[in-house]
Amino acid sequence: MSSRRMIPALLAAAALSIVIAEAQQKPAAVSAPRIYVFEAGSIKGLDPQLFNFKREELKEVDFVNIAYLVVHPKGTLMFDTGGIPDSAFKPGGEPVTEGIMSATKPLKPQLAATGYKPSDLNYLALSHYHSDHTANANDFAGATWIVQKAERDFMFADKPQGIIQPAQYTALKNAKTRILNNEDLDVFGDGTVVIMSTPGHTQGHQVLFVKLPKRGPVVLAGDLYHYPEERTTGRIPTFEFNAEQSTASRKKIETFIKQNKAELWIEHDIATHAKLPKAPAFVE
Ligand SMILES: [Zn+2]
Repeated sequence: MSSRRMIPALLAAAALSIVIAEAQQKPAAVSAPRIYVFEAGSIKGLDPQLFNFKREELKEVDFVNIAYLVVHPKGTLMFDTGGIPDSAFKPGGEPVTEGIMSATKPLKPQLAATGYKPSDLNYLALSHYHSDHTANANDFAGATWIVQKAERDFMFADKPQGIIQPAQYTALKNAKTRILNNEDLDVFGDGTVVIMSTPGHTQGHQVLFVKLPKRGPVVLAGDLYHYPEERTTGRIPTFEFNAEQSTASRKKIETFIKQNKAELWIEHDIATHAKLPKAPAFVE
C-alpha cells in the first residue's frame, strides 16, 4: 500500500476501533434475568435487644451489607446502594469505618467490573431509606426511581428523623420517579422482576422478587427480616415504623414464598450471602 493510501486506511481502522470500543462499553443484552451481588461492608457491634433477642438466641449477631443489580433482557434495576459512600474511600483504598458500619471496597468499581455504570441503569429501587441502604443512592439519580409514596414523603419531609442520611439521597428528589401507592410493580411486564410493597419496617419498605431461569424464584428481602431467627420466632425489631404492618407484610411474603417455592435472601444475613457468588460473577 502506498503511503498516500495508507493514511486513510489507518484513519478508517482507528475509527473502526473507536466504534468497537464504544460497542464494548455496554454489556451485551442478556437472554434471561440474572442477579449480581455486591459486597457493601458489614455492621458490627449491634445490640441484639434492638431486635428483641438475647445474644444466645442468635447464631450470628453481625450483619453484612449488600447491594444487588438485576439485569433483565429489557433493562437493569439496582436494588439498594450500600452503607458507606464510595466518596468516603481514600485513594489508597484502605477500609473505611463509620460508627458500627465498615466497608473494605467501594461499590462503583464492583459495578464497573460487571460492565455497567450507574448512568447505564434503567431503574433504582431502595428496600427502604435507612442509611445502611442509601449510601450511594445519589449516583443512581439518572435511573428511574421506583418508590412507595409514603416512603418518599417521609424522605423529603421537612426535618425527617431516624436512621437516615438525607444528603446521600437528595439527588433522587428530582430523578424521574415511578411512585407506587402501597402497590406491587411488575417492572419489565413479564412477571420475572417484581417490586412488592411490604410496609412496616419503614413507611414504604419494599422487597424484590426475581424469577431466575436456573436457580429459580428468589425474594430479596431488604430488612423485612434481619436475622433468620426472626422468621422462626415471629419477633419484630424494637424500632419498626409500624410493627403491625411488619407482621402483615411478613405474612404476605411468606404466603407468596410458599406459593412460588421461592428462596428468601435476608439482605443482612451473613450465611445467605457467604454461599452466593459475588460480582462480577452472577446468579442466574
Ligand atoms: Zn438495614
